[in-house]
Amino acid sequence: MTTPHTLSVRELADGLQTKQFSSVELTQHFLDRINMHDKAVNSFITATPELALEQAKTADELRAKGDTRPLLGVPMAHKDNLCTQGVLTTCGSKMLANFTAPYNATLVENIANQGFISLGKLNMDEFAMGSDNEKSYFGAVHNPYDLDRVPGGSSGGSASAVASGFVPVATGSDTGGSIRQPASFCGVTGIKSTYGRVSRFGMVAYASSFDQAGAFGRSALDCAYLLQAMSGYDPKDSTSVNKEVPNWVGELDKVGGDKPLAGLKVGVPTEYFGTGLNADVKAKIDDALKVYQELGATLVDVHLTDPQITLATYYLLAPAEASSNLSRFDGVRYGYRCENPKDLQDLYTRSRSEGFGAEVQRRIIMGTYALSAGYFDAYYVKAQKVRRLILNDFLKAFESCDIIATPTAPTVAYKLGENLSPAEIYMGDVYTIGVNLAGLPSLSHPVGFVGGLPVGLQLIGKHWAENTLLNTTHAYQGATAFHKEMPKLG
Ligand code: GLN
Repeated sequence: MTTPHTLSVRELADGLQTKQFSSVELTQHFLDRINMHDKAVNSFITATPELALEQAKTADELRAKGDTRPLLGVPMAHKDNLCTQGVLTTCGSKMLANFTAPYNATLVENIANQGFISLGKLNMDEFAMGSDNEKSYFGAVHNPYDLDRVPGGSSGGSASAVASGFVPVATGSDTGGSIRQPASFCGVTGIKSTYGRVSRFGMVAYASSFDQAGAFGRSALDCAYLLQAMSGYDPKDSTSVNKEVPNWVGELDKVGGDKPLAGLKVGVPTEYFGTGLNADVKAKIDDALKVYQELGATLVDVHLTDPQITLATYYLLAPAEASSNLSRFDGVRYGYRCENPKDLQDLYTRSRSEGFGAEVQRRIIMGTYALSAGYFDAYYVKAQKVRRLILNDFLKAFESCDIIATPTAPTVAYKLGENLSPAEIYMGDVYTIGVNLAGLPSLSHPVGFVGGLPVGLQLIGKHWAENTLLNTTHAYQGATAFHKEMPKLG
């Protein structure tokens, strides 16, 4: 067999259909690669080889009997905050280290219904709080481009697994950048959908009004396949929106010609190119914007809320929601329970102190403070008002452009164990969190390397305009080859 881990989802689907390989062979190939290299990367918390091979066997049998689902038998993997029936869902936490969900998240179910095979559950920062994947109870993930560096977070396992060729595509979740920033650090493409597009039912909640799932792949086309599979209305999630999911894959096939981006107005917000942005990263973004122009796009200056303000707003509201969401982990109903509690108070206190890591505790404390009686108006209510103003600025900017382009992160991946302060780490989210405050769809795609490390460009779309993000990226990827690069492992 050739090297299936270098193939696109479409090539894998075609190969299965034309019997170049079976799903069992394909699945075994990816499992072998995981076996060989994941000790160094640590992208999986739970690999499920037996289950995957069983599913692959069934997929092959179904195909032989005439099942024509195109993606039947294509491997993928899930971020470990998505509930999977019968398989551990740890959320990267000691709190849930032994938790097996009794049901599948809707998006897990949707993806399985398209015939995808899951190879297991991917590492992440505890409860999706973090930007470096060093906050996982199951150990840090290593960036496959430089094993001494972070992969980004919180979906660091998903990004590194796709970059390493352990799976062609993977799910992720994005509350403040957790798909886009690791995609940028690991040199892959990652898309977060419009809030309400993908069901949150069965995705462990961090900050419910921000949380939204999405897809990682090497290209926009690969992402489109997985996003298409997972999206859609779900009555089990009250924030799910009943809106038809467009045929994104089909639309990508229409992107072509000499000037595929002709007529597209790309907004470039000055506020996202200021101090703090690494000069080499900026140069790569500028190069990519030139490619957009060569493909027919026009650049226009737009203005957005100062990203420092969005950062402060996010780090009030997200912890506030987290403090409420995480109150369910009390040592009584499920999750970690301390040994020999003296009384009920001791059971709560020690179960939560021992079960949650430092960053999660920090957020619970910050959030509880912002919601407490004396500070509610000054912090929480004020931040909610600013949230609305941030959205207004996006809507205003979209009056003069179709899509917005910014750097995904101010730097490339930093060293593991650098011991940055929480505030320094939060600063790395400065360009990604505005999107979540506004509920917009957004994507990061690779645009080159600085010192051997990948750089990502962030595209932000209007509500429900995932197609603009995917089409623009597809056009760029038709003219460049950065997304085809792979790290050398071992
Ligand atoms: N890095 C951000 C945080 O720590 C975003 C996390 C996320 O999107 N889940 O909150």
